[in-house]
Amino acid sequence: MERVLILVHTDADGTLPRAAYEAAGAGARLCGELGAAELAIGIVGAAAQAAVPSVAACGATRFLVSEGAELVHSRYASDAAAAEAVCRAAGASVIIAPMTARWARTLAGVAHRLGGRVDTHVTGIGAADGRVTATRWFYRQRMEGTLFREPRPWIILLDPGACPAWAGPVGTATAEVVDVVLGPSLTRTTIAGIEAPAAEQQTIRPDADLLFVAGAGWTKKQADGHVHADDAETLILGFLRASRASLGSSKSLVDLSGEGHTVLQFMSHMNQVGQTGSTPRHPKGLAACCHGEEPHVVGWRFITERRAVNLDPNCGWARGKADVLYVADAFAVMTRVNALLAQGQ
Ligand SMILES: Cc1cc2nc3c(=O)[nH]c(=O)nc-3n(C[C@H](O)[C@H](O)[C@H](O)COP(=O)(O)OP(=O)(O)OC[C@H]3O[C@@H](n4cnc5c(N)ncnc54)[C@H](O)[C@@H]3O)c2cc1C
Repeated sequence: MERVLILVHTDADGTLPRAAYEAAGAGARLCGELGAAELAIGIVGAAAQAAVPSVAACGATRFLVSEGAELVHSRYASDAAAAEAVCRAAGASVIIAPMTARWARTLAGVAHRLGGRVDTHVTGIGAADGRVTATRWFYRQRMEGTLFREPRPWIILLDPGACPAWAGPVGTATAEVVDVVLGPSLTRTTIAGIEAPAAEQQTIRPDADLLFVAGAGWTKKQADGHVHADDAETLILGFLRASRASLGSSKSLVDLSGEGHTVLQFMSHMNQVGQTGSTPRHPKGLAACCHGEEPHVVGWRFITERRAVNLDPNCGWARGKADVLYVADAFAVMTRVNALLAQGQ
């Protein structure tokens, strides 16, 4: 019989990230599908005990925590030691963890120490004929595969945004504290602080409801024969500020900077969506001045509601790739949209 552990970590502020609730939801569903499997939750990090009530009602019967000053921030050596100790204490055969940056760099090493296996970028977990199955995409999201594994423990890192988050009432539960000795060899790396862009400069927002994709058209000559990159920058940043949308880009636009063309200063390769870029999971997407070519649109695989603004009625979006195509000048459209947003509409 499988023993399932949902292994999550708190953020430095002591709260569980959304991806932790998604892992909790997936783990709870899996236990239901498997029948009599035991479900435990392990929480590592700052204020781990205080986070237990927020998942106490998800169906788990054991709660294991590992916390302390050395576990507030992400550090491979201490995180791996704590995660390993929690996994051993749980005696779990299947460990479901969110694929946050912190766990992504830690849990492969933990799987090795436990003599187990790990799979990353998993997008679905289920049970078939009493066996645990994991689903993930291959070859840049073109093929979906379903995996079984015999060796245990099996650590499954679940991609954020792929499964519904568990949502339930705050409960009560008694947590078992898992002691981990974090000696000098595990704390040699010191965390001096975190340098992050100010919130308003951070354009990639995985939790946003909308993905706004800018294409190279923003930097091309317009009807008056001139390039209007400054206007484009003002319009796009104004829209992002007002809508809190996440910013994506076509490859052509981010490549322009490397070729010495007029560019949008805030755009980097991190924003690129597509075959050689990212595959975001926002529920809605709006593309403007982007042609909608196949290598770009494959990055929209998980975006269900799609709209685009393009001057060209024969652009790629018109060929079944968007639900709605506005054949219009994106400069005019976004000026109007920003004005409406400023009025609170
Ligand atoms: C192996 C390979 C991998 C690739 N990987 C990726 C990838 O990961 N991501 C990616 O994006 N691309 C990728 N590409 C490139 C892709 O094929 C396209 O070249 C790219 O997406 C085009 O970018 P674009 O639509 O922004 O630019 P363009 O093709 O230059 O399109 C600009 C669009 O802007 C419109 N436009 C101009 N002015 C306005 C205006 N005022 N209002 C409205 N519309 C306007 C034009 O009508 C045009 O449709 C890849 C290509 C290859 C070969």
